[in-house]
Amino acid sequence: MYDSKSKKAEEFISDEEILDTIAYAKENRGNKELIQEILQQAESFKGLNHRQVAILLECVEAQDQEVLQEVHRIAMKIKEHIYGNRIVFFAPLYLANYCVNSCRYCGYHHSNCEMVRKKLSQEEIKKEVIALQDMGHKRLALETGEDPVNIPIEYVLDSIKTIYSIKHKNGAIRRVNVNIAATTVENYKKLKEAGIGTYILFQETYNKKTYEYMHPAGPKHNYAYHTEAMDRAMTAGIDDVGIGVLYGLYDWKYDTIGMMLHVKHLEDTFGVGPHTISLPRMRFASDVELQDYQNVPDEIFNNIVAVLRCAVPYTGMIISTRESKENRKELLRLGISQLSGGSSTGVGGYADRADGVEESEDTAQFQVDDVRSLDEIMNELCRTGYIPSFCTACYREGRTGDRFMSLAKAGQICNVCQPNALMTLKEYAIDYASEETRKYAEEVIQNEIPRIKNEKIRAKTIENLKEIENGKRDFRF
Ligand code: SF4
Ligand code: SF4
Repeated sequence: MYDSKSKKAEEFISDEEILDTIAYAKENRGNKELIQEILQQAESFKGLNHRQVAILLECVEAQDQEVLQEVHRIAMKIKEHIYGNRIVFFAPLYLANYCVNSCRYCGYHHSNCEMVRKKLSQEEIKKEVIALQDMGHKRLALETGEDPVNIPIEYVLDSIKTIYSIKHKNGAIRRVNVNIAATTVENYKKLKEAGIGTYILFQETYNKKTYEYMHPAGPKHNYAYHTEAMDRAMTAGIDDVGIGVLYGLYDWKYDTIGMMLHVKHLEDTFGVGPHTISLPRMRFASDVELQDYQNVPDEIFNNIVAVLRCAVPYTGMIISTRESKENRKELLRLGISQLSGGSSTGVGGYADRADGVEESEDTAQFQVDDVRSLDEIMNELCRTGYIPSFCTACYREGRTGDRFMSLAKAGQICNVCQPNALMTLKEYAIDYASEETRKYAEEVIQNEIPRIKNEKIRAKTIENLKEIENGKRDFRF
């Protein structure tokens, strides 16, 4: 029985409701009036429910170009209205790749004998963080496998402390998001106390049968425990949670609708939906055969992104370096608001790179596609009209959870996003950019200052930019 407010995974992610929704969308294929109504609702920034999303996904499947053009137009309008041309950057930091789970799609799975297992010491974490700071990163997503013996929660907490404590030259990591296995309310409380930003956990797939097949052994096999993790995290006081499915494991329509049910469950239960949605697609990994998966082609994947932008206008959407540089460009247009850049998916990869050691694949979780350096990505974005941002202001100002959402929904958040983006871009330009990227970044800053609508904020931003030139750092609204 479907119940969005239930505490039980199989009731708030009801298989029956998802299948009924898919059938309902099939029955309404080509229902122009209904589609029109949905598009109008999306265009007024009100978001969509899972049934409305299913109708649009049906149009994706039918390749209804007329509707898809409209979906793209509206997605781009929402993106422009809420996020402008700002793109927030982060980098993953892999602490350890020990794992007791057996996820079939992941190179870290327990029985992968080819994988070289590694766990960074606090000294090694320092080196990684310095290398990341020297690239210009301010926001990290911590990644580990699940292994209570080798990677206890205390290790993760110590690592967070280490990361926040390092100040190399003008560098600092100002927000640590955490992507670790589903855990207890008690442990989530500890993470909250450690000052994490977003707690991220991908559902992988919402289809229970496939979920259990993909996770044949280990604690992650428990579908309910995994699916209810965000409830425990939010009960523990973590306001910002990030969800996602791994496209390629199961039917993309089923999983997108499942994800919408998860959004609704969190909204109905905690008054606020997920802070972010990540959109990873299957990639080649050690001891993983890609042909065993249902690859979602670009044209469908990009349309899913556009539909989701229409459905959850105020939720940040994240694409990693799993995607090619060409497709990332297209996805930015359609609604993505956060990117990783210059990423290493191995344990200790950043320090190796900084030392000039060729990055080895033997500890990597998966193969990245966009292998450009952060500076190359920044260069391209600045040249093509985007404002790359290293902003971490909201969580540091206590704008999290429903406080953040109400500001976002009132259209006020962009008043701070824009100047924060320019000030962090200025820091990047001075401290880390190549000469050419610095030139383009300065052009972006000069072009964008007059676009700050609030006069007082504009004046303060100009003042702060001068202070940054004079050597001061870390201004924020
Ligand atoms: Fe372990 Fe996570 Fe990989 Fe599964 S996806 S094998 S839990 S690291
Ligand atoms: Fe994100 Fe808040 Fe910074 Fe805007 S001001 S980019 S919402 S952290």
